[in-house]
Amino acid sequence: MPSRGALVFADAGYSMDDAYFVLFGVPFDRTTTFRSGTRFAPTTIREASRNFEADMPEHGVDIRDVPFHDMGDLDEEGSADEMVAAIEVEARDLVSNGKFPIAIGGEHSITPPIVKAFGSEVSVVIIDAHLDYNDEYQGLKHSHACAHKRVEDIVGKGNVFAFGIRSWSKDERPEEALFADAFTIHERGCEEVFEDMLSRLDRKPVYLSLDIDGIDPAYAPGTGTPEPFGLTSFDVRYIVNRLADRLVGFDVVEVCPPYDNGNTSMLAARYVREVVAVKWKASRKG
Ligand code: MN
Ligand code: MN
Repeated sequence: MPSRGALVFADAGYSMDDAYFVLFGVPFDRTTTFRSGTRFAPTTIREASRNFEADMPEHGVDIRDVPFHDMGDLDEEGSADEMVAAIEVEARDLVSNGKFPIAIGGEHSITPPIVKAFGSEVSVVIIDAHLDYNDEYQGLKHSHACAHKRVEDIVGKGNVFAFGIRSWSKDERPEEALFADAFTIHERGCEEVFEDMLSRLDRKPVYLSLDIDGIDPAYAPGTGTPEPFGLTSFDVRYIVNRLADRLVGFDVVEVCPPYDNGNTSMLAARYVREVVAVKWKASRKG
């Protein structure tokens, strides 16, 4: 069972029963490879969420009117394997009850068990600086450096792509992965490259996983493994809005508060609100 502290994501005022969007934190960073601390992000992102006006006039949405619930943080489990299993149980519960899960990491290894709850029903879009396509990393199948590979194991080739990549190694067998690199995106423009990638997906419903280091460290410095030459904060806003009605779930991972000046948690909180607003707007139209 998740433990619920006093701190709740801003304007997530509905009960679990009445909510469509359900947020949960996963303060887990056991497999982090360079700088640890992402376990603090669920708290700092909730704190940052209070910065914003509930009203989002650009979308015609007031978040207070949206059925949105914050169920607190999942308890930490002993090993990475146990943590991944616990996340899957919670995610299955939400998905089978028709909820839209929003997870706040923690590190990127929390994504595959959430995707597993959807099984073979969805496509997955991953925004990341890193390809994360290792079959195993430092002996761990559930390392955050294997996130993309584990997701592909679940949804199959052709149903997942990574976007914004600028760090990969030939040991990962990148030729087998579907991804758009940051250099090409910079050259051709985010919109054109994203359209091209999107047209390759087989399934319409999309789960979006945002590894915050996909965004340039100039916008998102507070992360464990920062990589220059990233996407802009507006690029990722475009992607969220482009996907809007197709979205079925979302996570934001790898925010690392000990290395943040505050702006990274703020940006992550803002993307949660953007996802909620544009999905809600799209579902009312449909
Ligand atoms: Mn990642
Ligand atoms: Mn990354």
